[in-house]
Amino acid sequence: MGTNASSLQKCAKSEELFLRTWEKQKEDLDKVVAVFKIKHNLRQHRKTQKKIGNVQLLFHGTKVYCEKYAEVINNISTNSKALYGDFDANKDCCKNTACPMCGIIQQGYDLEKFGTGTGTWGRFGKGLYFTENSSKGNDYNFLTELYCRKNYRCILLNTVAMGKIYYADQNMAHLLHPPAGFNSVVGLPKAKADISKGVHHPGLNYHEAVVYNNKYVIPKYIIIYKLKDEPLPMFKDLPLISQSSSGFHPQDGFPLDRPPTLQ
Ligand SMILES: [Zn+2]
Repeated sequence: MGTNASSLQKCAKSEELFLRTWEKQKEDLDKVVAVFKIKHNLRQHRKTQKKIGNVQLLFHGTKVYCEKYAEVINNISTNSKALYGDFDANKDCCKNTACPMCGIIQQGYDLEKFGTGTGTWGRFGKGLYFTENSSKGNDYNFLTELYCRKNYRCILLNTVAMGKIYYADQNMAHLLHPPAGFNSVVGLPKAKADISKGVHHPGLNYHEAVVYNNKYVIPKYIIIYKLKDEPLPMFKDLPLISQSSSGFHPQDGFPLDRPPTLQ
């Protein structure tokens, strides 16, 4: 992990965005501990994003089964400011094929992982789910607590080509593609209906965005943050899980791993 001045600035902006969009239960958040700018070669993705347009920065919470992540957590002193750096997708990802975060960082998002986790349900069908609220992403990235302390979590900040948005006023769980003539689906809470000519989803309290094409999305930043909670013992005191052991699967928590509650 190296760093340059422009990366530092971008990491700082990402931290700002994360803090600003944490709306739900503000008191739950302690602080951001690290932001890494991801470097990779998803060239086709970049081309697709350019073509589709309306590229937005959106969050996606995912689980981490990752020694890299644990390394970072264990090296952070409790009072220091957030650590900023670069993260090379080819070199810095962990070797654990069951780590959802590193899978996304290396290969990009994969729609085929949808529906394979237990209890999967998608409000707007088989898609890749994002949100403009960091606090909503936080509902989907609870950890196994094996590789880190319990109150540390991780979220990805992504560029998502939204193109022409279909604003949904109800669930559309059958969708495999966006509605004809559109590139994406967004569910808005009533408070945000001004940007959609009044259309909103009565079951949502927070923004939810869905695309149906892997190439619309590029994971750009890893944000590691701390919730206010009692810490578990340190990583090094806990047993390691090998790739072959059962108990968790690559698709766990990706992209939406439990039946939705009112969000
Ligand atoms: Zn990993």
